[in-house]
Amino acid sequence: AEPRLVVARATRISSRLALLVLRDITERERVEQMRRDFVANTSHELKTPVGAVTLLSEAIESAADDPDQVRVFASRLSAEASRLAQLTSRIMNLSRLQSTDELTEDRLVSVDEIVASAADANSLQSDSAGVDVVRGGERGLFVRGDAQVLSEAVSNLIANAIAYSPEGSSVGVGVRKDDTVVEITVTDRGIGIDEADQDRIFERFYRADPARARRTGGTGLGLSIVKHAAQRHGGEVRLWSRPGRGSTFTIRLPAADMPEASTAKKSRKK
Ligand code: ADP
Repeated sequence: AEPRLVVARATRISSRLALLVLRDITERERVEQMRRDFVANTSHELKTPVGAVTLLSEAIESAADDPDQVRVFASRLSAEASRLAQLTSRIMNLSRLQSTDELTEDRLVSVDEIVASAADANSLQSDSAGVDVVRGGERGLFVRGDAQVLSEAVSNLIANAIAYSPEGSSVGVGVRKDDTVVEITVTDRGIGIDEADQDRIFERFYRADPARARRTGGTGLGLSIVKHAAQRHGGEVRLWSRPGRGSTFTIRLPAADMPEASTAKKSRKK
């Protein structure tokens, strides 16, 4: 090759290499920035309940002579403590889902079991809110992954659907298989979500209506966990919503083949 051509080629290669290195540095910086934001947001979110616990403990101490007051403060203390426990456990789950670690479990999981345990986890809430959770759709479907992570994701969707629905309404949990994808759908007839908020609500700590979310005891992490759980399983979350009409969240996961045993049982029954 002609010397000039060689030089030109060499420059092209080295500038491409430089670009690659640069891209790698930007990516690492982005991840590092995300980690810093996470720590900053988390510390900020923890401050409120930690402050409340401190104040309430002091209040109990100074009200020691008044048993009625003590009871009131103690019950508020216990509510704040359980909120703190929920917040820390969600922070831990989310940080685990965001890390590059492997999922702890990768086995065949029954979608029926995911939905049943998610509905069970919300039975107290649905009773006290007067909202019915109605299951429907296909049975006997399977996906691969971590059963606990997946049922927590579905449970978060059901919890939101209940929290943002009026008393007396019902929440539908449906399952269907579309070619190679299993869809788990949670539908409510609640307050709905403004279009401007529909992308943002999947961000950590984002709430469409902070005052209302606080009243419903939200952490602002539920949907972020749902999104990461779906993505870790090779899936995604979709949202349809109309303000005042309600919302439908759909977790889409790659379908897995039915395990041998249950296929055999089914064909024997026929
Ligand atoms: P939170 O713990 O505040 O519910 P999430 O991450 O689960 O946090 O949800 C983020 C925000 O998305 C909520 O604060 C609420 O504004 C909105 N949202 C989530 N689910 C629903 C729903 N089913 N109907 C209406 N708004 C919802």
